[in-house]
Amino acid sequence: MATIFTRIANGEIPSYKVAENDDFYAFLDINPLAQGHTLVIPKHVEDDYIFHLDPETYRGLWDFAGEVAQAIRKAIPCKRVGVAVLGMEVPHTHIHLVPLQSEGDLDFRKQRPQFTPEQQAQTAAAIRKAYEER
Ligand code: 5GP
Repeated sequence: MATIFTRIANGEIPSYKVAENDDFYAFLDINPLAQGHTLVIPKHVEDDYIFHLDPETYRGLWDFAGEVAQAIRKAIPCKRVGVAVLGMEVPHTHIHLVPLQSEGDLDFRKQRPQFTPEQQAQTAAAIRKAYEER
């Protein structure tokens, strides 16, 4: 059975899309640590541990994440874009990209800020635009 993230990449489950190419997909986290918190996934490989990916997918995922991080940096005011790999919840490799004002923004135990669907849609559109203009 497909993972929830495969179903998101296939468009079966809605998401706020940020960027996409043939092999990788980026979308806003449903419970963001900060405005613009993005998840980056391989579309065709579900392995739940990033260090088990085949070398091509591994390198491609990080290259794509780097491009998305640059778009986030352009679209969202932040000091830098933090990176985390946890995989405690969803068994489909993903990289978290989190716009940071301070190191506390990368604390997964902290209370999450709330954003309306309209705010999430606007945030995704702004990052998407920056990604498309790169
Ligand atoms: P992890 O597996 O890295 O510990 O955490 C999974 C992340 O995926 C969490 O930050 C969670 O909010 C996010 N997440 C879980 N289910 C969904 C979903 O259906 N849609 C989106 N956009 N994010 C999700």
